[in-house]
Amino acid sequence: MNWRRPLISVETLVAVATLYLLAVVNGPFWRAAMAGRDLASLRDAGFALALGALVGALHFVALGLLSTRRTVRPLLALVVIGGVVAAYYMDRYAIYLDRAMVRNILATHYDEAIELFSTSMVGHVLLWGALPAAALWWPRLKPRSWQRALGLRAAWMAGAVVMAVAAILPVFADFASLMRNQKEVRHLVTPGNVVAALAGNAWGRAARAPAVRTAVAPDATLAPAWTQRSRPAMFVLVVGETARARNFSLNGYERDTNPALAARDVVNFPNVTACGTSTEVSLPCMFSPFGRRDYDEDRIRSHESLLHVLARAGFQVQWRDNQSGCKGVCDGLPQVQLSRAQVEGLCPEGQCLDEVLLHGMDRVLADARGNLFVVMHQLGSHGPAYHRRYPAAMRRFTPACEKDDLRLCTPAEIRNAYDNSILYTDHLLGHVIDLLKARQDRYDTAMLYVSDHGESLGEGGLYLHGIPYRLAPEVQRQVPMVAWLSPAFRQAFGMDEACLRREAQRPVSHDHLFHSVLGLLDVSTKAYERSLDVFAPCRTPVTAPAGGGARVRPPENAH
Ligand SMILES: [Zn+2]
Repeated sequence: MNWRRPLISVETLVAVATLYLLAVVNGPFWRAAMAGRDLASLRDAGFALALGALVGALHFVALGLLSTRRTVRPLLALVVIGGVVAAYYMDRYAIYLDRAMVRNILATHYDEAIELFSTSMVGHVLLWGALPAAALWWPRLKPRSWQRALGLRAAWMAGAVVMAVAAILPVFADFASLMRNQKEVRHLVTPGNVVAALAGNAWGRAARAPAVRTAVAPDATLAPAWTQRSRPAMFVLVVGETARARNFSLNGYERDTNPALAARDVVNFPNVTACGTSTEVSLPCMFSPFGRRDYDEDRIRSHESLLHVLARAGFQVQWRDNQSGCKGVCDGLPQVQLSRAQVEGLCPEGQCLDEVLLHGMDRVLADARGNLFVVMHQLGSHGPAYHRRYPAAMRRFTPACEKDDLRLCTPAEIRNAYDNSILYTDHLLGHVIDLLKARQDRYDTAMLYVSDHGESLGEGGLYLHGIPYRLAPEVQRQVPMVAWLSPAFRQAFGMDEACLRREAQRPVSHDHLFHSVLGLLDVSTKAYERSLDVFAPCRTPVTAPAGGGARVRPPENAH
């Protein structure tokens, strides 16, 4: 055998690499595209060839545009190794590499990413990625003048396009129906899917999310009365997930789903309407000054949130998450992602129970200097696998649906599992209050809990949530809300609790959150609207001069 290195053109090298990609890293694509077909039939074999020609030509043209004698080897090596890694995970986890998935991967923390590097993956990538990539350096590349290289390249690329069109035309009806019925298969075309998703995310980010959010309440400061408070405030806002008002015993539900809250002297708000029926809508909306009454998603997403205003006023803000992040609400502020933490006993099967939100809180509270505002974003009652949202100790309502597919359970079992998850949220909130109680000697502490949206549990044949707002049933829109204010907090901020218990009966909504928190924490800004502050009617303005204790009571029924 002659081991002299062969002399080939750049185009030949790109073509060989393209064929390799088609054959080796597109298993998931071929399986999905050819599902239900039989390669032994002439028609289906022709369809496979045509698909191969099309996908191959697309990759060839894209790579051809970027390849020179200098760049072709590193480029192809990157594409081959990247493709092999992508295919490995697509195969193993049956994922589609679309924009959202790539965004998730990019947002994955280093320690989570490192878990994915198994020995089998490294071996697989060495064999199918690194070895062929190294082989790219074996052949020598023909030197050409740039004019000639340009002409040849154009001819090759035109040839590839003509071949793809000629191949797809005879099977076009078949191809069109594949694109119509199984549009997602395009996310399996590797490595084109990775490049398209990366580019789509970069473009989407540049086009939609402004680098700098428009300031909300640029004048926000602590009100003058703060000079009279001797102790800092410590506030925990718990953002619930998929908890509906109806299943809280505090709201009259026949089952005892709130034993912990009932034992802790909380103020319950029985009539609260969510801004949306999904996390994506509700979360940005409830933290914005605009809310549902003036709903404009672009405006909400391009402006700062309540948290930015609190940070500007001098609060230390921290977002703790056991879910899918803060949806921009905490951009640029300290965040702790805990959903994939590895905490003994709290994180079975890689997904943590909500008590993980308390993990490390002792440290946060101990390290706090000045006023602290912590948000805990629960996984709550996120379905359909309600049974994964609570530990065995909370399995009080039985038999509970233990399947991830709700269709395999009876309505009673589904309700049992859901109620157990509510019971666990109640347990968590009890914990948070106890944590704050333990600090009330040094801080004025308070907690507010409100869910992002409700849930359908089979009423009217509906399950889960996300029905367009105007059409959504009440169970998806009515959410629980509960406040707990330590006695010292009530005193320092002039809150009349008996008054608050009366006021809490009135209908309120997520629109009230922004203004109520600013009001409650005595943050002064022109952006504050008193009419949307649920606490305002029960607050005695703390305006006494230094040394004085005289406080002016507001007139009863000020609203
Ligand atoms: Zn949600």
